Amino acid sequence: MPRYRDEIIDEVRLRNDIVDVIGSVVKLKRSGANYFGLCPFHNEKTGSFSVSPDKQMYYCFGCGAGGNVISFVMDYENYSFPEAVKYLADRAGINLPEAEETPEERQLSSFKSKVMECLKSAAVFYYKRLYSPEGKHGLDYLRNRGLTDETIKSFGLGYSGKGYDQAVSYLRSKGFPDKVIDAAGLCNISEKHGMTDRFFNRVMFPIMDINNKVIGFGGRVMGDGEPKYLNSPETIVFDKSHNMYGLNAARRSRKPYLIV
Ligand SMILES: [Zn+2]
Repeated sequence: MPRYRDEIIDEVRLRNDIVDVIGSVVKLKRSGANYFGLCPFHNEKTGSFSVSPDKQMYYCFGCGAGGNVISFVMDYENYSFPEAVKYLADRAGINLPEAEETPEERQLSSFKSKVMECLKSAAVFYYKRLYSPEGKHGLDYLRNRGLTDETIKSFGLGYSGKGYDQAVSYLRSKGFPDKVIDAAGLCNISEKHGMTDRFFNRVMFPIMDINNKVIGFGGRVMGDGEPKYLNSPETIVFDKSHNMYGLNAARRSRKPYLIV
């Protein structure tokens, strides 16, 4: 993970008053030295959420949520630490220097972005196949489930094709090296068959991260194949413990739970 120098992080905190930042999303009322409001992290009718201008901290007496302005933005927006720092720096008009990365971190992040590009290309491939003659039974399946073309498009649904290496050949033709396709979780590799498509004759559901980037797929088989549902394996961009389908759409909904 990229790191910012401590002085920069201090400046970001100092130039974003916690009462202003929280006050822009939670209605706060002054009472003595502190401000109080309804906690954005749990459901309540009386304000047990307090913000201290002196300490530049917040604390909820109801659910125990607490921290500084950066942790508030992380929790409220579901941002990572660097994302929250970036957000607050932009808000205060601070020019962030490039985050410092070691050569290994730089190499890893450039590999990760190739993997993400590969997943995006795969999503385009699957989407186009859905509207090809081959994808007709997949499209019929989705329409019979009541999905409109608009929904299909906005979730980027697709169809994986029936050949053994259609996606792999397509991705190779787009210039992705085999190790990137493999790291994206889009193929199976065996001595007997070489590199073949992981997803075969399936309706495809892209799994997105909070920034609306494709990080994996779920696929439902058409017909009697097994397993009925197949997901991407865990990869360097898809951590199953931290992502779930529809998280990107649910991110700002402020609901305490997600329907999956
Ligand atoms: Zn609370």
